[in-house]
Amino acid sequence: MTEASDIPIRVRPEIAALPPYKQGKQAGADAFKLSSNENPFDPLPGVVEAVTAAASFNRYPDASAGRLRARLAERFGVTADSVHVGSGSVAILAQLVQATAGPADEVIYAWRSFEAYPWLAVVAGATAVHVPLTPDARHDLPAMARAITERTRAIIVCSPNNPTGPIVTQAEFDAFVADVPADVLVILDEAYAEFVTDPDAVDGMYVLGNAGRPNVVVLRTFSKAFGLAGLRVGYAIGHPRLLDAARSTAIPLSVTAQAEEAALASLDVEDALRERVSVIAERRDRLAASLRDAGWAVPQAQGNFVWLPAGHETMALAEAFDAAGIIVRPFAGDGIRISVGEEESVEKVLRIAASVVNDLPEGHSGRRLA
Ligand SMILES: *Cc1c(COP(=O)(O)O)cnc(C)c1O
Repeated sequence: MTEASDIPIRVRPEIAALPPYKQGKQAGADAFKLSSNENPFDPLPGVVEAVTAAASFNRYPDASAGRLRARLAERFGVTADSVHVGSGSVAILAQLVQATAGPADEVIYAWRSFEAYPWLAVVAGATAVHVPLTPDARHDLPAMARAITERTRAIIVCSPNNPTGPIVTQAEFDAFVADVPADVLVILDEAYAEFVTDPDAVDGMYVLGNAGRPNVVVLRTFSKAFGLAGLRVGYAIGHPRLLDAARSTAIPLSVTAQAEEAALASLDVEDALRERVSVIAERRDRLAASLRDAGWAVPQAQGNFVWLPAGHETMALAEAFDAAGIIVRPFAGDGIRISVGEEESVEKVLRIAASVVNDLPEGHSGRRLA
């Protein structure tokens, strides 16, 4: 392949320096793919039929996904202009960052968190400001508040945090937002909200409904709990002025009619959704507890994944999983994220994780203190 440096096109240096996007490994036929936090269940009842019925591919979709916006507005008790739909919530994240932050501006987020955050800031031309997680892999919101400068334009808070798992509490979030200047956007990324069982967790809809904070936008997605990752549809709820700004940066007509129909059909069967989500949450709790029993220092797990703080052993351990037919998501030098997948995968994950934990050096951060 030709290197960009071999041709005389002047790519922005910060873009040329970005590593190209690498997807979680595709799994072989007999392997479990636990690398992308996907839902192991088939689409909810009625969804395939709704997508199949929306077969007028010769037509452009409804640019504003009006029916889905109206439906979500009704669901959450807000006006339709407080809802914005995008081709995945990552698309909306990019829109919000582009709308608020440009060259010399700063975007603050916790680290380690979602891999897309640094990339979004750099593509917007802004400066990415990382604030390290606490030792128990939680957001350090007081430190994030202290990182705000007059150049800060957007702050991203991820609860539960991908890839480490802990939530931000409602009390922590309220105290944090009170410290954020009113002209700084706070994006609350709740991609895993449906899996949360901790009653103290922040709830974006509560924030929007009760706290009167027009600088907070809440992001949710149909990719994870609803199992529509392949169709690309997510949404934001927040002040119409902020969402208008996001819409102004959006690539028009990105949300397909099929995605809109699938989302609508999924909202029709929320009981079935809730049942599946509770199966995954129960499986997650069981997996996390067993990993802790085996000696792993697994942080609070409130998404559909668990985190092994494997540190320098990360890549070697990921290979051990790989060899056993379990595809995980390693973050070199840091840890391994394992999605909660099929029931049959749980035993296998446990067996491999338990077999290596005692090989970790004494005092390793991955080992649970006895
Ligand atoms: C998966 C994920 C998203 C949403 O992805 P989309 O498929 O684009 O909706 C957003 N934020 C985080 C932290 C995620 O893990």
